[in-house]
Amino acid sequence: MKIQCGTCGAEQTVLNPVAVSVQCPYCDAISLLVDKEWTRTGKKSRLSQGFSRLYRGAFCRIEGVEYQIVGRVRYSFGRGFWDEWFSLTEMGKGVWITEDDHTFAVQQRVEATDITKQQGKVSLHDEVSVEGRTYRITEMGKAVCLGLEGELPKEILPDEQYDYADGTSLDGDYALGIEYDDEPPTVFIGRWIHPREITIL
Ligand SMILES: [Zn+2]
Repeated sequence: MKIQCGTCGAEQTVLNPVAVSVQCPYCDAISLLVDKEWTRTGKKSRLSQGFSRLYRGAFCRIEGVEYQIVGRVRYSFGRGFWDEWFSLTEMGKGVWITEDDHTFAVQQRVEATDITKQQGKVSLHDEVSVEGRTYRITEMGKAVCLGLEGELPKEILPDEQYDYADGTSLDGDYALGIEYDDEPPTVFIGRWIHPREITIL
């Protein structure tokens, strides 16, 4: 799909069929898909590249699956930040790859009714069961969007914030992420991946 930037007029090709947010690669302006129309937000975003091995446009292979990175959101948690890379598989499926302190997890959205049906939020050190695995909540805080780039499947703009809770499985192998950005909250799980398990193609 080709779209025209409402701010600078540049044309860009959108790869992600479910994108609702795109950043213009020329002027950094962010547009959102509202009622099937690409609409200017008046916001711009530019991210420093940082020290990640991943970058927008990169192709990489993780556990035998090939991904193309098409976008990124960076969140602050107060003492630092983490990146969420939005990528597409060869089949066109959208997947978030979270990168926190050079550790990665390919996230999979899950129903997690134990969490979403619960009254209120989880608490620090709670143990919750998701898809047959037990996780302990290790961190809770407020995520503030520091910036974004590329094509994204969700509407998020710089400075927007939401509460989150993170957990780790009792064996330490899996990550749990709860985003209190909606009702019910959005829950993701993913196996922790060492950087050497990622091949840049
Ligand atoms: Zn533009």
